[in-house]
Amino acid sequence: MADRPAALCGQRKGQPPRPGDVADQTGIATARVVALLRNLQLRDLIGLDPDGEVIRYAYPFTETPTGHRVELKANALNALCAVDALGVASMYGTDITVESSCRQCGQKIRFTTADKGRALSDLSRTEAVVWYDLAYSDSAAASCCPAIAFFCSDEHLRQWLNAKKPRRVGVRLTLAEALQLGRAIFGPVLVT
Ligand SMILES: [Zn+2]
Repeated sequence: MADRPAALCGQRKGQPPRPGDVADQTGIATARVVALLRNLQLRDLIGLDPDGEVIRYAYPFTETPTGHRVELKANALNALCAVDALGVASMYGTDITVESSCRQCGQKIRFTTADKGRALSDLSRTEAVVWYDLAYSDSAAASCCPAIAFFCSDEHLRQWLNAKKPRRVGVRLTLAEALQLGRAIFGPVLVT
Protein backbone atom coordinates (compact mmCIF):
# COMPACT_ATOMS: atom_id res chain seq x y z
CA MET A 1 0.00 0.00 0.00
CA ALA A 2 3.02 2.31 0.40
CA ASP A 3 2.95 3.48 -3.20
CA ARG A 4 -0.82 3.89 -3.39
CA PRO A 5 -1.94 7.52 -3.73
CA ALA A 6 -2.86 8.99 -0.37
CA ALA A 7 -6.30 10.18 -1.49
CA LEU A 8 -7.25 6.69 -2.56
CA CYS A 9 -6.06 5.34 0.80
CA GLY A 10 -8.16 7.95 2.56
CA GLN A 11 -11.25 6.99 0.60
CA ARG A 12 -10.67 3.33 1.27
CA LYS A 13 -10.53 4.05 4.97
CA GLY A 14 -13.86 5.84 4.71
CA GLN A 15 -12.31 9.22 5.37
CA PRO A 16 -12.39 12.33 3.22
CA PRO A 17 -9.10 13.20 1.51
CA ARG A 18 -7.05 16.11 2.84
CA PRO A 19 -6.07 18.91 0.44
CA GLY A 20 -2.56 17.47 0.25
CA ASP A 21 -4.00 14.10 -0.77
CA VAL A 22 -6.02 15.73 -3.56
CA ALA A 23 -2.92 17.64 -4.67
CA ASP A 24 -0.89 14.41 -4.81
CA GLN A 25 -3.61 12.67 -6.81
CA THR A 26 -4.36 15.45 -9.29
CA GLY A 27 -1.12 17.38 -9.61
CA ILE A 28 -2.93 20.59 -8.61
CA ALA A 29 -1.01 22.69 -6.08
CA THR A 30 -2.27 22.32 -2.50
CA ALA A 31 -3.06 26.03 -2.15
CA ARG A 32 -5.15 25.85 -5.32
CA VAL A 33 -6.94 22.74 -4.00
CA VAL A 34 -7.81 24.63 -0.81
CA ALA A 35 -9.20 27.51 -2.89
CA LEU A 36 -11.26 25.10 -5.01
CA LEU A 37 -12.64 23.38 -1.92
CA ARG A 38 -13.69 26.74 -0.48
CA ASN A 39 -15.41 27.54 -3.75
CA LEU A 40 -17.30 24.25 -3.60
CA GLN A 41 -18.35 25.14 -0.07
CA LEU A 42 -19.69 28.51 -1.25
CA ARG A 43 -21.85 26.59 -3.73
CA ASP A 44 -23.07 24.32 -0.90
CA LEU A 45 -21.64 21.20 -2.48
CA ILE A 46 -19.32 20.34 0.41
CA GLY A 47 -18.74 21.52 3.97
CA LEU A 48 -15.32 22.27 5.45
CA ASP A 49 -14.13 22.55 9.03
CA PRO A 50 -13.69 26.09 10.44
CA ASP A 51 -10.07 26.15 9.20
CA GLY A 52 -11.40 25.58 5.70
CA GLU A 53 -9.15 22.63 4.95
CA VAL A 54 -10.80 19.43 6.16
CA ILE A 55 -13.87 18.15 4.34
CA ARG A 56 -16.62 17.37 6.85
CA TYR A 57 -19.31 16.47 4.34
CA ALA A 58 -19.82 16.18 0.62
CA TYR A 59 -23.44 15.57 -0.35
CA PRO A 60 -24.82 12.95 0.02
CA PHE A 61 -22.26 11.77 2.61
CA THR A 62 -20.95 13.07 5.90
CA GLU A 63 -18.43 11.97 8.49
CA THR A 64 -20.96 12.77 11.22
CA PRO A 65 -23.35 10.01 12.27
CA THR A 66 -26.85 11.05 11.19
CA GLY A 67 -28.82 7.86 11.76
CA HIS A 68 -29.11 7.29 8.00
CA ARG A 69 -26.71 4.44 7.20
CA VAL A 70 -26.04 3.51 3.61
CA GLU A 71 -24.37 0.24 2.66
CA LEU A 72 -22.68 0.97 -0.65
CA LYS A 73 -20.70 -2.01 -1.93
CA ALA A 74 -18.32 -2.80 0.96
CA ASN A 75 -18.72 0.59 2.64
CA ALA A 76 -21.09 1.74 5.37
CA LEU A 77 -21.56 5.49 5.09
CA ASN A 78 -23.62 8.24 6.73
CA ALA A 79 -26.05 10.09 4.46
CA LEU A 80 -26.87 13.67 5.35
CA CYS A 81 -30.63 13.08 5.15
CA ALA A 82 -33.28 10.61 4.02
CA VAL A 83 -33.42 11.93 0.44
CA ASP A 84 -29.62 11.89 0.17
CA ALA A 85 -29.65 8.24 1.29
CA LEU A 86 -32.25 7.46 -1.37
CA GLY A 87 -30.16 9.13 -4.09
CA VAL A 88 -26.94 7.18 -3.51
CA ALA A 89 -27.87 4.15 -5.60
CA SER A 90 -28.61 6.23 -8.70
CA MET A 91 -25.47 8.27 -8.18
CA TYR A 92 -23.29 5.14 -8.22
CA GLY A 93 -25.39 3.06 -10.64
CA THR A 94 -25.65 0.21 -8.16
CA ASP A 95 -28.00 -1.01 -5.48
CA ILE A 96 -27.69 -0.16 -1.82
CA THR A 97 -29.18 -0.95 1.55
CA VAL A 98 -30.42 1.89 3.73
CA GLU A 99 -30.92 1.55 7.45
CA SER A 100 -32.52 4.39 9.34
CA SER A 101 -35.30 4.83 11.86
CA CYS A 102 -38.58 6.61 12.42
CA ARG A 103 -37.78 10.09 13.66
CA GLN A 104 -40.77 9.95 16.00
CA CYS A 105 -40.60 6.47 17.59
CA GLY A 106 -37.14 5.18 16.66
CA GLN A 107 -38.45 2.04 14.98
CA LYS A 108 -35.96 0.69 12.46
CA ILE A 109 -36.68 1.36 8.78
CA ARG A 110 -34.60 -0.69 6.40
CA PHE A 111 -34.81 -1.30 2.68
CA THR A 112 -32.74 -2.10 -0.35
CA THR A 113 -32.92 -0.64 -3.81
CA ALA A 114 -33.40 -2.57 -7.02
CA ASP A 115 -32.66 -1.90 -10.69
CA LYS A 116 -29.71 0.39 -9.86
CA GLY A 117 -31.68 2.63 -7.57
CA ARG A 118 -34.82 2.91 -9.70
CA ALA A 119 -37.01 0.91 -7.32
CA LEU A 120 -37.31 -0.16 -3.69
CA SER A 121 -37.40 -3.69 -2.34
CA ASP A 122 -37.39 -5.49 1.01
CA LEU A 123 -38.99 -2.51 2.71
CA SER A 124 -39.29 -3.22 6.42
CA ARG A 125 -42.13 -0.69 6.88
CA THR A 126 -44.35 -0.54 3.80
CA GLU A 127 -46.24 2.49 5.10
CA ALA A 128 -43.06 4.50 5.77
CA VAL A 129 -42.97 8.11 4.55
CA VAL A 130 -40.40 10.90 4.26
CA TRP A 131 -40.65 14.49 5.44
CA TYR A 132 -38.95 16.78 2.91
CA ASP A 133 -38.21 19.92 4.87
CA LEU A 134 -37.86 23.23 3.02
CA ALA A 135 -36.11 25.34 5.70
CA TYR A 136 -33.07 26.17 3.57
CA SER A 137 -30.57 28.72 4.89
CA ASP A 138 -26.88 29.02 3.91
CA SER A 139 -26.32 25.28 3.59
CA ALA A 140 -28.70 22.35 3.37
CA ALA A 141 -26.59 20.38 5.84
CA ALA A 142 -27.07 23.01 8.54
CA SER A 143 -30.70 23.87 7.81
CA CYS A 144 -33.13 21.45 6.16
CA CYS A 145 -31.12 18.19 6.15
CA PRO A 146 -31.49 17.43 9.88
CA ALA A 147 -35.28 17.52 9.45
CA ILE A 148 -35.47 15.47 6.22
CA ALA A 149 -36.20 12.14 7.78
CA PHE A 150 -38.02 8.83 7.59
CA PHE A 151 -41.19 8.10 9.54
CA CYS A 152 -42.75 4.69 10.08
CA SER A 153 -46.24 6.01 9.28
CA ASP A 154 -48.26 9.11 8.45
CA GLU A 155 -49.49 9.10 12.02
CA HIS A 156 -45.96 9.42 13.42
CA LEU A 157 -45.09 12.14 10.93
CA ARG A 158 -48.23 14.00 12.05
CA GLN A 159 -47.29 13.63 15.74
CA TRP A 160 -43.75 14.87 15.07
CA LEU A 161 -44.97 17.87 13.06
CA ASN A 162 -47.56 18.76 15.70
CA ALA A 163 -44.81 19.00 18.33
CA LYS A 164 -42.70 21.42 16.26
CA LYS A 165 -42.81 25.11 17.15
CA PRO A 166 -42.52 27.06 14.92
CA ARG A 167 -44.36 24.93 12.42
CA ARG A 168 -42.11 23.20 9.91
CA VAL A 169 -42.59 23.93 6.24
CA GLY A 170 -42.13 21.03 3.88
CA VAL A 171 -43.73 18.19 1.95
CA ARG A 172 -44.78 14.67 2.92
CA LEU A 173 -43.49 12.16 0.39
CA THR A 174 -44.08 8.46 -0.06
CA LEU A 175 -40.84 6.48 -0.14
CA ALA A 176 -41.31 6.00 -3.89
CA GLU A 177 -41.65 9.77 -4.35
CA ALA A 178 -38.61 10.44 -2.16
CA LEU A 179 -36.65 7.91 -4.21
CA GLN A 180 -37.51 9.81 -7.39
CA LEU A 181 -36.42 13.06 -5.76
CA GLY A 182 -33.13 11.51 -4.63
CA ARG A 183 -32.58 10.15 -8.14
CA ALA A 184 -33.23 13.57 -9.68
CA ILE A 185 -30.76 15.28 -7.34
CA PHE A 186 -27.94 12.74 -7.23
CA GLY A 187 -28.36 10.63 -10.38
CA PRO A 188 -26.51 13.16 -12.61
CA VAL A 189 -23.68 13.92 -10.13
CA LEU A 190 -21.12 11.39 -11.39
CA VAL A 191 -22.30 11.29 -15.01
CA THR A 192 -19.50 12.42 -17.29
ZN1 LIG B 1 -42.73 5.70 14.21
